Amino acid sequence: MLTITDLKVSYGAIKALEGVSLTVGRGETVALVGANGAGKSSLLKAIMGLVSATGEVTVEGTGPILGRSPHKIARSGLRAVPEGGAVFNGMTVRENLQVGFASGASRLDEAGAFDDAFLRFPKLGQRLDQLAGTLSGGERQMLAIARALVGAPSVLLLDEPSFGLAPVVVDEVFAMIEMLTSGGLTILLVEQNARRALSLASRGYVIEQGSIVVEGASEQLSADSRIVDAYLG
Ligand code: ATP
Repeated sequence: MLTITDLKVSYGAIKALEGVSLTVGRGETVALVGANGAGKSSLLKAIMGLVSATGEVTVEGTGPILGRSPHKIARSGLRAVPEGGAVFNGMTVRENLQVGFASGASRLDEAGAFDDAFLRFPKLGQRLDQLAGTLSGGERQMLAIARALVGAPSVLLLDEPSFGLAPVVVDEVFAMIEMLTSGGLTILLVEQNARRALSLASRGYVIEQGSIVVEGASEQLSADSRIVDAYLG
C-alpha cells in the first residue's frame, strides 16, 4: 500500500535520513522504532511533503507522491496524526473534525463520516461543542486520530501517539490503535515505545542515525537480544 525507497532528507549539512526503504502492506500495521533524533519525524515529514527529500514514495493506486504539495498528498489518501495528538486547541471538537473531513476524500457525506467516527469514539460525539484545548491528553489524541479518520485515509501515519501521556492514558491510546489495527486499517506506527509498538504491529523496522538497521516480524524483533538491550530494556 505504501512503498518507500531510498528516502534521503538533509537539513543543510545534517543528514537526517540516509536512504531509508520500507513497505506497509494493505491492512497491515508496521512499527518504526528508534531513539530520539534517529530520523522518525523526518521520515513522516518527508512522506507528507513537509520537508524536501529524494527517493521514492508510492501509494498504491496513486503512484509516486514525492514532490507533490502536502495538500495533494493528503488528498491521495495519506493522513498523519502529529506527535502528541496536536489538534486545533481554539476550535471545537466538531470544527476539528470538519477540517479533517474537508481535506480528505471520504465517499460519505459529512454526517455519515462523523457517525462512522463516533462509532469508534463515542466520547467525541458527546463533546462536539467542547473546545479541543479543554480535552484531556487522551481525548485530544482520540480527536487527532478521529480527525484523520473522517478524511477516509488509505494509510494512517501515527507519530509517537504515546508521547507525553501518563501510563494509564498510554494504555487507552494503544487500545484505540489496536481497534484500528484489527479493523484492517493500514498503519505506519512511529514510536519510541518499542515494546508497545511491536506488540501491535505485525512487522517492525529499527532506525538509527537515519538508516534502517534491523527489520523483521515483530516477534522476531522482540526476541532479538540487540533490540531487547537497546530498546526494550
Ligand atoms: P524524536 O523522537 O526526538 O522526535 P526523531 O527520530 O523524530 O526524534 P528527527 O526529528 O527526524 O528525529 O531528527 C533527525 C535528525 O535531524 C536529528 O539529528 C535532528 O537534530 C535533525 N533535525 C531535525 N529537524 C531539523 C531541522 N529543521 N534543522 C536541522 N536539523 C534537524
